[in-house]
Amino acid sequence: MEPAPLTPAQERTLALLRRSDEPLVFDEPFIDELLRTATVEIAALSARLQGEKLWVSKGFLAKVHGCEVRHLAPDDFAWKPSTAAGFVAHKAIELSLNWRGEPHPSVVVDEAMARLLDQADARGGYVAGLSDGDWAELRSRAIDRTTKFLQDFPPLPVAAQPVLEASARWSPPGTIELSGKVDLQVGRPTGRESRLLIIDFKSGGRSPHHRDDLRFYALMQTLRHAVPPRKLVTYYLDYADSDVEDVTEGMLQAALHRTLEGIARHVELTVEGREPVKRVGTACRWCPLQEQCAEGRAFLHGDDTEHVDP
Ligand code: SF4
Repeated sequence: MEPAPLTPAQERTLALLRRSDEPLVFDEPFIDELLRTATVEIAALSARLQGEKLWVSKGFLAKVHGCEVRHLAPDDFAWKPSTAAGFVAHKAIELSLNWRGEPHPSVVVDEAMARLLDQADARGGYVAGLSDGDWAELRSRAIDRTTKFLQDFPPLPVAAQPVLEASARWSPPGTIELSGKVDLQVGRPTGRESRLLIIDFKSGGRSPHHRDDLRFYALMQTLRHAVPPRKLVTYYLDYADSDVEDVTEGMLQAALHRTLEGIARHVELTVEGREPVKRVGTACRWCPLQEQCAEGRAFLHGDDTEHVDP
């Protein structure tokens, strides 16, 4: 069957994602130095943790660089249809890549939900325990995301080795481990040439945190493989639009600095007894401490005169 012609939205995104004719190869001494600095600095931070095991993720860094009071609050995360729609849609998209015939969004989402039901983990448990209403809402949200992806994102050739929900870890000597997961990784390694494309899908609008999330993932890939990815893409499903950033030495250095700084703040707060700093911002909207926090409530009611959004 002839492939369908690309839509203008698909053409536009494809043009942004294409590799240039010039192969991108990072300077080997720069990568060696980045790895050496990361290993040495993280070992020193590990020693300050006094044996505590610490998993550093993009969410951890966003929290510790935001409001430190909230960072220290117990983790209150629980899946909801609005947050679970992402992993259901990713499963559906994964199935659609190898689907026989044309993958219809509602059909692949139903198949994805049926498969998740059997999964022996927190996601499977959440899907298995849904009420009829939440099931319907989750299905509807996942179909919306899957439809937007299948209609507006350029088709992914299997030869480009796309991996949905690609996870990565980096564990240097000590008790600190870096870990992360991106929505989509495309490309295969070829020697020292940077070919990997890292893509996160977002519902809703742009936020500076989105670039930080992807830069952290680029750093981890570099520390693991000694070959950085070539491009980072945040794809906004509602807008069929992308924020694209080329990976550079400066970006990797900035990502390492932000990671080390975030871990150091956590050590100061949890082991060394520094008082946490309250920082209001959009995260106040979802903060479990909002009821007891006058500054957060004032910010949300548009009465913030003392604080800035970090
Ligand atoms: S409401 Fe805002 S300022 Fe207050 S603790 Fe939560 S995140 Fe921090």
